[in-house]
Amino acid sequence: MITAGIKKKKALDLSQTESNNPYESMMQRFQEAAKIIGLDEETYNILKSPDRQYLVSLPVKMDNGKMQVFEGYRIVHSTSRGPSKGGIRYSMDVNLDEVKALAAWMTWKCAVADIPYGGAKGGITCDPSKMSEGELERLTRAYTVALRDVFGVDKDIPAPDVATGPREMAWIVDEYSKLKGEFTPGVVTGKPLHLGGSEGRVEATGRGVNVATVEAAKKMKLNLSKATAAVQGFGNVGSITAKYMELEGVRIVAISDHTGAWHNPKGIDIQKAIAFRNENNGVLKGFKGGKEITNEELLTLEVSILAPCALENQISRKNANDIKAKLIVEGANGPITAGADEILQENGIIVVPDILANGGGVTVSYFEWTQNRFGYYYAVDEIHKRADRSMSRAFNNVWKMSQKYKVSLRIAAYMFALEKVATAIKSRGSY
Ligand code: GLU
Repeated sequence: MITAGIKKKKALDLSQTESNNPYESMMQRFQEAAKIIGLDEETYNILKSPDRQYLVSLPVKMDNGKMQVFEGYRIVHSTSRGPSKGGIRYSMDVNLDEVKALAAWMTWKCAVADIPYGGAKGGITCDPSKMSEGELERLTRAYTVALRDVFGVDKDIPAPDVATGPREMAWIVDEYSKLKGEFTPGVVTGKPLHLGGSEGRVEATGRGVNVATVEAAKKMKLNLSKATAAVQGFGNVGSITAKYMELEGVRIVAISDHTGAWHNPKGIDIQKAIAFRNENNGVLKGFKGGKEITNEELLTLEVSILAPCALENQISRKNANDIKAKLIVEGANGPITAGADEILQENGIIVVPDILANGGGVTVSYFEWTQNRFGYYYAVDEIHKRADRSMSRAFNNVWKMSQKYKVSLRIAAYMFALEKVATAIKSRGSY
């Protein structure tokens, strides 16, 4: 029997309002998991707030000659299991509570993936779609200079996240290496291959989301060659998740990005959609491979699998009852609110949580970092093999925990992570 989507008896009060604050959503799950594992108060108090929070002011000369000042964040949630690790996002929505939640999720994610890192996250409040390449470069360099004492190969290691990629990571390596006076590729991951990047890093998150889907499907006895999926988001994570799911035989009936959503019951050709996006300034606007629908409609389609791979808070108490998928695999961080978790669970929907499902990215970041330290680089097959194995192992560890305690996969993943982090904190001791 599948207990990961365990049905609860309690009647749900859907009128209850909920906060869309990702930090509160994270804390709610953290508290629930802490209670079940009987986490002691001291460790709970250590983990409930980030170790360090940096807010930096970044003056940047814009192309029009005027100076604009941007706000940048770096939150180090924990370094108990190793240097802190986590991406940097560029978005107008970046704010302190969002970055705090994302940083904590990195701590839990690295513990679930069993890689020796703590968690951090960074962000800059900006609209990269309205900035030139030169402006983005100056902004990225200003951010690196401002956080030069925070970043470090054995301290805090950034990576790509929403709207950042190998190009931004190359600027960070360059600026940081200049400040240090030596080439320091291990200070950041997700770099271009020619600058010490790893084979397989670009596709790592989406590939891992697919491995998590395959593992969940096995448990649920869901035949993927007869399954359908809707994928929200067509950036690095969404498009590659869709590509790998299609290779498993899943019919991808809907895709979307911030310019629209498209539905084709016969299946969307993902290779064609990727090619279209690549030739169309990175967006799907104008895509002809399906009928245009709304984002809300995409989320509530009659499909076997839903993969939210965009932003936070996409499934909340407002629409959770309309979700028809049997399995949700979270490619994005925080796409489901804590309030929605309860409703999905009541409806018997299995959710593979973000801190498990999208851990493939940071896992290959770890391989990149170790390769930088060794100065020896693996072939892509080796990276894929190790990353897939690691994802399957993580999935099965969390699955076992969920079966043993009869909790959702989300709470099981938090429990698994908390136990690991708490053990590290206790054995290091304190004064
Ligand atoms: N930004 C990605 C995440 O949220 C990758 C982080 C990393 O590779 O450090 O998991």
